[in-house]
Amino acid sequence: MLKQKSPGALYKIVLPTAEEAYDVGSLDVMDEESDYKLPGLQHRYPDTALIMATDICAGFCRYCFRKRKAVAPLNDDKIENFDDIIDYIERHTEISNVLLSGGDPFTLGNNKLLSLLEPLANIEHLNYIRIGTKILAYLPQRITEEPEFVEKLKELNKKKLIKIIVHFDHDEEFSKETTKAIEMLNNAGLTLYDQTVLLKGINDDIVTMTNLLDQLTAHKIIPYYIFQAMPVKQSLHLQVSLLDAMSLMNEISKTRSPLENKFKFIIPNELGKMECIGFDDNYLYFKHHKSVDSLKTGELFKVPCDKKRTWFSKEEIIYLKPSLNSSIYEPLCPTSLREFTQEKPSNGVFDSVSNNKQNVTKAKQLHKRSAL
Ligand code: SF4
Repeated sequence: MLKQKSPGALYKIVLPTAEEAYDVGSLDVMDEESDYKLPGLQHRYPDTALIMATDICAGFCRYCFRKRKAVAPLNDDKIENFDDIIDYIERHTEISNVLLSGGDPFTLGNNKLLSLLEPLANIEHLNYIRIGTKILAYLPQRITEEPEFVEKLKELNKKKLIKIIVHFDHDEEFSKETTKAIEMLNNAGLTLYDQTVLLKGINDDIVTMTNLLDQLTAHKIIPYYIFQAMPVKQSLHLQVSLLDAMSLMNEISKTRSPLENKFKFIIPNELGKMECIGFDDNYLYFKHHKSVDSLKTGELFKVPCDKKRTWFSKEEIIYLKPSLNSSIYEPLCPTSLREFTQEKPSNGVFDSVSNNKQNVTKAKQLHKRSAL
């Protein structure tokens, strides 16, 4: 499974340590249990349905934010068939994409997984299907020993785009077998995106991160998200301070071009996904990257900066003004965060930040003009 010799950093992902005796943290940081519409189906964002295809994984990551499934498996997540879920997605035409998660969907048998993928591929209003998996790190043989199944995925991908969201935390996870599995998926025309969790003592250094990025680039995997480790029960020791994490993100950007480093550094919480965008002496700055309240997507906010801070609560959020939708604001705004957050931007585009309605109209007009 692991290329690294014991007792290497990667073993910390799967082996329990004495630090887990510090029994604090949450088992549902994202408040996912309130997103269930049916057993096995979460509908948190209007455009995305998340199917908990199984609660089984090929390995158990100590920091898993769905640890509650492992410590107290919910029987209702063991879905006998997916008929009700398919029916729900068919009826909800606002859903444009589906994420298969869990657990790891690739731990399902071929027939069971295809019984989910095939009807999904027939739903017209879906643009694509995502499959979230760490199988390439834990059990790449699931792919390499199943060429017929990969062929099936290839065929389905022609009908409906299938994106494989892989999960690598360290460059040492790229064993020979893993490389072979990636090649098979690449050759089948599937696009691979990577999600990584930032983990203290495992990958929170520039050498590991650049090595990981280099491996992703070499294997044609698109870097997607780096997640701040959540305050999950018994895994707080794996969290990196947000200040250190944001400094590390800056270092990565200095060493690899944006063409390679497409990672966004994200805090996932009950409000949605928050992108970490920078810091100064007093504050950490964020953007609502994808909000449960879709009106908030794009809004900017800050929380007081503290060297030891690893998380924040929604009560600590201070919204920045002007709170324009970023897609309108970004092409017009000054590039530095200092200018971005000051009361009157120096380019004269906005007369007054308090007059948001007028500013939005102006911004829209100028954006339209600049796009011509
Ligand atoms: S592979 Fe994903 S779902 Fe499974 S234990 Fe690890 S983080 Fe959790």
